[in-house]
Amino acid sequence: MFADLHLHTFFSDGTYSPEELVASAKRLNFATVALTDHDTVEGCAPTERLCAAAGMEFLSGTELTAEQDGNEIHILGYCFDRANSKLLLEIAKFQTVRQNRIREMVARLNQLSIPLEAEAVFTLANCRAPGRPHVARALVDAGFCESLDEAFERFLKKSRPAWVPKFKMSAGHAIDLLHQAGGLAVMAHPGLNRSDKVIPGMVEAGLDGIECFHTKHSSATASRYLKLAQRFHLLVTGGSDCHGASKGKPVMGSVKLPYHYVEELKQRAASKRGSEKAA
Ligand code: AMP
Ligand code: ZN
Ligand code: FE
Ligand code: FE
Repeated sequence: MFADLHLHTFFSDGTYSPEELVASAKRLNFATVALTDHDTVEGCAPTERLCAAAGMEFLSGTELTAEQDGNEIHILGYCFDRANSKLLLEIAKFQTVRQNRIREMVARLNQLSIPLEAEAVFTLANCRAPGRPHVARALVDAGFCESLDEAFERFLKKSRPAWVPKFKMSAGHAIDLLHQAGGLAVMAHPGLNRSDKVIPGMVEAGLDGIECFHTKHSSATASRYLKLAQRFHLLVTGGSDCHGASKGKPVMGSVKLPYHYVEELKQRAASKRGSEKAA
């Protein structure tokens, strides 16, 4: 039995609908999937219903954008209460930040004589947590760029003319937010951050786990993080980080997390909630 605990839909910057995501996971024979859209939980309810109908286990998730010692860190949240009002309020704040950032990126493009309209990006994104991939798609759709790569290279990559930094919450705040909602906080794709030195600080802040298995982690990288997980007593997770069919090839299936890691995750969440109730 296998799981994929890192997946995106069109409720953030993925292209799959919940239907397509669940159908793909079913085809690949996954026992469990978690939806981890950026700064939103909107897609969880429909995906959960579809998983139930397909006989698959579903875990609620999200991927929060945060910062630790000046580094952008992505924090995966699992097993939290999706109706938690504090979590929903904070997420809504960050969705507003994302929407304002889109307007600012579009304003910069306009200054570069590219007459893209923010509304075109919002219409295309059709979700509450729009991001740079949506601006890139809008640039391609309107014929200003040939490809998404070109849009990032010319305009949207860090330090390019339409790049706008994103206001981020601290990693500690993201971890606390997930904990008060009864959930667990896991550092996403540490191998992509190239800054393992932030990990001890995040452990200090209450980090519960680390994503050892990821499409972009080599087996040597995965081993390195498995050792770190052991040293810091962290849970181990993994997922494909699939954003839909990429160049005709879905990357879902590139990571198959053995099910015992899911059991450990759920046990930790249950025992944390239990000890809070007892306290
Ligand atoms: P945002 O959260 O708005 O800053 O957008 C981040 C997303 O943009 C990431 O999840 C990637 O999927 C995508 N992205 C970042 N850099 C590039 C790039 N150079 N080419 C294509 N996509 C990128
Ligand atoms: Zn993404
Ligand atoms: Fe990420
Ligand atoms: Fe992701």
